[in-house]
Amino acid sequence: MSTSIPLPGLESVAPSDPPRRGPSREQLLEGLNEPQRAAVMHDGAPLLVVAGAGSGKTRVLTRRIAWLISERKAHPGSILAITFTNKAAAEMKERVEELVGKRARIMWVSTFHSACVRILRKESDKLGYKSNFSIYDAADQKRLMTLVCNDLDLDPKRFQPGAMLHWVSNQKNELRDPEDATKDAHNSLEETYAAVYTTYQRRLREANALDFDDLIMGTVHLLQTFPEVRETYRRRFRHVLVDEYQDTNHAQYALIHQLCADPMEDTGADRDGAERVEPAELMVVGDADQSIYAFRGANIRNILDFEQDFPNATSILLEQNYRSTQTILNAANAVIGHNKGRKEKRLWSEAGDGERIVGYVADDERDEARFVSEEIDKLTDEGDLRPGDMAVFYRTNAQSRVFEEVFIRTGQPYKVVGGVRFYERREVRDALAYLRMLVNPADQVSLRRILNTPKRGIGDRAVACVQALADRDRTTFWEALRRADEAPGLATRSLTMIQGFVAMVEELQSMVDAGERADVVLESVLARSGYLTWLEESDDPQDETRLENLAELVAVAREFAEDPLAGPSADPTDVEAGIVAPGLGDFLERVALVADTDQIPDDDPDDQGVVTLMTLHTAKGLEFPAVFLTGLEDGVFPHSRALGDQTELEEERRLAYVGVTRARSRLYISRAVVRSAWGAPSHNPGSRFLDELPVDLVDWRRTEAAQTQWSRPDLSGGAGARIGAPTAAGRRNFSAAAVRADAAARAKPAREIPSLDPGDRVLHDSFGLGTVVSLEGVADKTVASIDFGSDGVKRLLLRYAPVEKL
Ligand code: ATP
Ligand code: MG
Repeated sequence: MSTSIPLPGLESVAPSDPPRRGPSREQLLEGLNEPQRAAVMHDGAPLLVVAGAGSGKTRVLTRRIAWLISERKAHPGSILAITFTNKAAAEMKERVEELVGKRARIMWVSTFHSACVRILRKESDKLGYKSNFSIYDAADQKRLMTLVCNDLDLDPKRFQPGAMLHWVSNQKNELRDPEDATKDAHNSLEETYAAVYTTYQRRLREANALDFDDLIMGTVHLLQTFPEVRETYRRRFRHVLVDEYQDTNHAQYALIHQLCADPMEDTGADRDGAERVEPAELMVVGDADQSIYAFRGANIRNILDFEQDFPNATSILLEQNYRSTQTILNAANAVIGHNKGRKEKRLWSEAGDGERIVGYVADDERDEARFVSEEIDKLTDEGDLRPGDMAVFYRTNAQSRVFEEVFIRTGQPYKVVGGVRFYERREVRDALAYLRMLVNPADQVSLRRILNTPKRGIGDRAVACVQALADRDRTTFWEALRRADEAPGLATRSLTMIQGFVAMVEELQSMVDAGERADVVLESVLARSGYLTWLEESDDPQDETRLENLAELVAVAREFAEDPLAGPSADPTDVEAGIVAPGLGDFLERVALVADTDQIPDDDPDDQGVVTLMTLHTAKGLEFPAVFLTGLEDGVFPHSRALGDQTELEEERRLAYVGVTRARSRLYISRAVVRSAWGAPSHNPGSRFLDELPVDLVDWRRTEAAQTQWSRPDLSGGAGARIGAPTAAGRRNFSAAAVRADAAARAKPAREIPSLDPGDRVLHDSFGLGTVVSLEGVADKTVASIDFGSDGVKRLLLRYAPVEKL
């Protein structure tokens, strides 16, 4: 089979690196053991690499990509590699690039979600969506679901939006659309659920929006329904590689199957379709013992049944662990050994026994955090470890707070991965809602969110009048806003406010249309919407943090604008071909896809030196020289939900296995005798996982909490105690004034406003040659409609648009 089928459109962006000698075979195989080499060099049939933690699965996958490009001459554009987080994708790309050079940038290394977005942006019309569709995240979904439940007049106590969403999500992960759900509804409860799903889906469509699960389901439906589209992607992706395969759900599995299954086995669908294409070469790597996403529909069977699903598959086992000491591995093996029905595999390491595991029983969670903080100090002082080598894990996000408080007090620099949920903060969401609505005005959820934020006198009554107009004329809410003068019953004052709002939005939209950089648009949004002034004038001390967060968001946008290729969801093929500017739409996509396991990109060199706090789920795939596994209490970890349920308990145990195996040389385990939950102290017994550890492996520094004798240092911090603020934002020390000055500076016209007349020929930086159709407004408000041929007619605010009169 040829692996270098030339792809239309790809030659034009073929590698422009100076001719270089690629790495030699030996270099590509260096530092790999025999089975690892076999996996890298494997040719042909689907390949499954199953192996325990730290055995080099990810390393093999990365090397194989380099091998495919360098030795088997696969076009980088024909490679699709799937990772679990955007961060992992970025790292993998970097590694491959180190090995084979810049041309590796063309390959797709991304999460399932990012890959699907890229496909859907190109093909969305087939599914009846515009290509500028919005991606709704959890919070948007919840708002929309609340609207849906109101629409259907459901009792909010019985039908909570969160639960409904969970149900809908499960349907989508199983690839069941509203029609399937309706067909299979056998009682009134199920009928209600199906009705909710139907309405929710209709609402999404009206808003030209997709939720996260739709991205996958939509892509699968696309490939199933349109054989010619499927063949296009099959022709394009000759190699598909998936890391962490144990955590794929059914929809993700179906996607891979569409691309990689042998078409001869398929029935129906493509019989009468386009010409058949050989399936892509598939490699998946995973570890059934690390499957920890069942609650999101991940199906461990995908890995167990691989050989049945792909009948000619080859399996390779890796058994040597290169990450941890034998002590740590023995602990991990002992714990996971308590799960039933698993394939026994014994990991071994040549690293020697190393240090014993250190155990600590704390009086309460503060004492535990203090212990961790002191140990981190000690390890740093001893000189062999830097703070950046250490990580603190916990079961749930909320547990980070105490560590943050103690670290702030002791001056220990740290970062919280995932838990801070930067993108879920109110001000960040507001800012993004502005941006999203600029790109996709049909996006009602975003538009309504910011219509009166900051307050500009457009109240509920006014909104209702506009909505009535939209309903009457069957038009979008945005269209109705633009025609608010026709809205029956709208007060004059409200009308004036709405018109002011519409004018502001249109002005900002013309910046977007002009292809203005994301950071510049964002700064203008913050300045012109009055958002910055609103926060500055507030007395609420929290609003200062909010300003910092917005400054942080601007910094993220700027970084993106300056190097869109750094973004995992950027399509290098398009960027290099000049099709996509580092514009706003691309930025929003990147932001939307920052999965909850990710955080804002940290370009800060300081971060090399800070302790990482994260949940166990987030820690998957990573490794640290020293790991603190905290909160080992029954009811905390394992989670209370799992205590009476064998299946869930086994999933928790796999999570413990993941946690333990992240450590390279030092592992700490701790628990608190008393922990406050919801403001009240609760006494938790030690985690059952602690009892599963061989006693000789653990050096208990403190076994029984001697609470009465223990004189606790005052860590309460009194009234002034501040809950951990995000450190990165603080460090960058942006002041609001700086943001504004920046906005003002950037908002200045970059060039003279060209004086144009209809019929004039112009040259635009991104859209190329165009002809002026018409002009509206005067001076720096002049908006020109310019016809760019195949790119269509664009309305551009000349003050910003990079156009030149010819
Ligand atoms: P996980 O299951 O946690 O995702 P993994 O199987 O993907 O782990 P890797 O992260 O690829 O394992 O590798 C673990 C560590 O071992 C890494 O530091 C990697 O560089 C190193 N490693 C892997 N294979 C070898 C080898 N043959 N020689 C030396 N070091 C190796
Ligand atoms: Mg891995």
